[in-house]
Amino acid sequence: MLLRHAPYTLELRHPFGIASNTRTSTPATLLEVEHDGVIGYGEAAMPPHLGESQASVAAFLTLATPLLTAVHDPFQLAEILPALDALAPGNTAAKAAVDIALHDWIGKKLGTPWHRIWGLDAAQAPVTSFTIGIDTIDIVRQKTREASIYKIIKVKLGRDDATDRAIITAIREVTDVPLTIDANQGWKNRDSALRLIEWCATQGVVFIEQPMPKEQLDDTAWLRERSPLPLIADENCQRLVDIAKLVGAFHGVNIKLMKCTGLREAHKMIILARALGLKVMLGCMTETSCAISAAAQLSPLVDWADLDGALLIKNDCFRGTTIVDGKLTLSKLPGIGAEKISR
Ligand code: MG
Repeated sequence: MLLRHAPYTLELRHPFGIASNTRTSTPATLLEVEHDGVIGYGEAAMPPHLGESQASVAAFLTLATPLLTAVHDPFQLAEILPALDALAPGNTAAKAAVDIALHDWIGKKLGTPWHRIWGLDAAQAPVTSFTIGIDTIDIVRQKTREASIYKIIKVKLGRDDATDRAIITAIREVTDVPLTIDANQGWKNRDSALRLIEWCATQGVVFIEQPMPKEQLDDTAWLRERSPLPLIADENCQRLVDIAKLVGAFHGVNIKLMKCTGLREAHKMIILARALGLKVMLGCMTETSCAISAAAQLSPLVDWADLDGALLIKNDCFRGTTIVDGKLTLSKLPGIGAEKISR
């Protein structure tokens, strides 16, 4: 099997602010595997605060090249992906790029998109939220107006209590659609977090993502006992092994391909989370329609989708899953359901 990869910088439409930082671009790496005349596409997206970079992805892929070029049957995911995972700890976005490309290759070889291979009905794909980053109140209002086609809006909070309330109030001046909140670990005190969540419950908020730092799991469990809104783990939920630990601290989990090494593990995580009675959300980083379309193949299985990553960038070089009337609409393309449109 041949392996090709190149860095690609995702240019954001607006500066994107979360609790810890603001950025205008996201480094990514695009990857192709080729075997038997079929090309599978994959992508790694690396928001800098998560620790991977174009250089670390290139280094991991160099390490993985002997393993991957020796692959004679890309269908053997059960053998290839654990061997890839064992090469080095971490590197989850780099591993996801390979996982996505192999899934794309297999689906193209079969002429079938992955949601059909998994036995899922594309008509069951959920609406997706659209994310409003932390910004000035005027820009928050403007971004909210621009997001009028979306049936649900995700709001980044977590800088300080007054700013958080001002952002929600500004959004409520513009729209009455349901909101979800992502505090990105920004609320450090459980009592003030509870007061803010109680207020959010009066503002049409549906759930709260990662209210407190991942190290404060006991405080999060305290909050879960009292919160009028469901709490969803993001930074606390990276991979399959994390899920069982979250029962009792959260009501659900946010699964992302770039955190969990790709589609194969994400599928297992959804099944396990369901078995443990947890709600499931499918999220993303800023990504092209390559990784977004891949994640969307799993979307008929989840309660909530936040797959707006390709909408936040100016230079999407893939076409695949689209959003029609706020709802994820999977393409009929095989594999991950995306095609390359420019280089
Ligand atoms: Mg999050």
